[in-house]
Amino acid sequence: MSFQAPKGTFDWLPPRSERILAVREALAAPLREAGYGYIETPVFEDTQLFARGVGESTDIVSKEMYTFPDKAGRSLTLRPEGTASVVRAVLQHNLHAGQLPVKLWYSGSQFRYERAQKGRYRHFWQVGAEALGAEDPALDAELIVLGARGFTSLGLENVRLLLNSLGDKTCRPAYRAALQEFLRGLDLDADTKARIEINPLRVLDDKRPEVQAQLTGAPLVVDHLCAACKAYHEEVRFLLTASGIAFEDDPRLVRGLDYYTRTTFEFVHDGLGSQSAVGGGGRYDGLSEMLDGPPLPSVGWALGVDRTFLAMEAEGLLGDHAQARVQVYGVPLGDEARRRMFLILNDLRVAGVSADMAFGGKGLKGAMKGAGRSGAGFALILGERDLAAEVVQVKNLTTAEQTEVPLAQVVDVLKGKVQ
Ligand code: AMP
Repeated sequence: MSFQAPKGTFDWLPPRSERILAVREALAAPLREAGYGYIETPVFEDTQLFARGVGESTDIVSKEMYTFPDKAGRSLTLRPEGTASVVRAVLQHNLHAGQLPVKLWYSGSQFRYERAQKGRYRHFWQVGAEALGAEDPALDAELIVLGARGFTSLGLENVRLLLNSLGDKTCRPAYRAALQEFLRGLDLDADTKARIEINPLRVLDDKRPEVQAQLTGAPLVVDHLCAACKAYHEEVRFLLTASGIAFEDDPRLVRGLDYYTRTTFEFVHDGLGSQSAVGGGGRYDGLSEMLDGPPLPSVGWALGVDRTFLAMEAEGLLGDHAQARVQVYGVPLGDEARRRMFLILNDLRVAGVSADMAFGGKGLKGAMKGAGRSGAGFALILGERDLAAEVVQVKNLTTAEQTEVPLAQVVDVLKGKVQ
């Protein structure tokens, strides 16, 4: 049997693959404008980084990591998310010794052994942003605005923003205890009961209807925020409103990672079925300390590139994918013509005109078919008689009009035509 991509993964092929590159670019562009610098971290890290940084009790760490020993017996894990790696890199390179906040963005593959379905893959792509070392509601609001800008710049109209605060180390313990007391009185399975003791907030995130039905009267974190968290949250809400960013307060939004404090948010799209989150993030004031660093209050988000693409598809923003691969297509007839065409193409590309040609010694008919498929606006047809006369036939593939151009002028002429 021939090989297939592993379960839960797929290949991005042309022409869709060009669009996914454009989506990555569009999501990252607003960050560059706000002074975020690009960071690239390894695709694998010490397993303990995620165990500690993401949290032992999370689904990610307990069930979904691609963990393997390397040949020297170290336990490594393919990164399931980007934040822990970014914090690790900041601490390792002492970036926090400079001006704060340290603003960074990344773009890359993430790996989670999830139940594969539409919109949920085992290998997917995120664009992420982190601002480390400042506790300032304007920073939380800035990141949310930049995320929203990325989506709108792609033409997406149906992305909703859900917002919540999870409190901090002052108010969260009392809330946690109140929630635990409530949850202990419910009819839940053994796994969920165990979760109540380890991470009760995550029970609120349980999507099963029989669990949700019992959660109606659960205490909400917004009702337990201390004065400082409340004021902080109000300021984030004020700045978002003043920026014209619509949001919905969602007191049940807890998110699946352990490190969040205060501001948490999710971008959702209703055209995606059950996997509706196109991005999410929040404040993680304690993470640096969990990784043996100094206190470094921080905020960040990760946007799902694959799901953003699906959202665009759902809104009909992708058209028919029919995009021109190149602007000009060469049709050389014979060996000498092929040699000459090869050089003309080099010159065209240097001059900024994208160009391809028929390879494999195709005849006129086969080569013209290739020209049509390439989406090029112009074909350059070069036969033996043209070579002898130092000319080339330039065929406009839209109008079928053909003109003869001296070889010495063809680059300039085409440059003028394709602009
Ligand atoms: P998270 O790191 O879980 O907060 O995820 C951030 C974003 O990444 C989500 O909102 C999704 O858009 C995307 N994402 C997370 N997990 C997957 C997955 N298994 N497949 C595709 N996209 C994902």
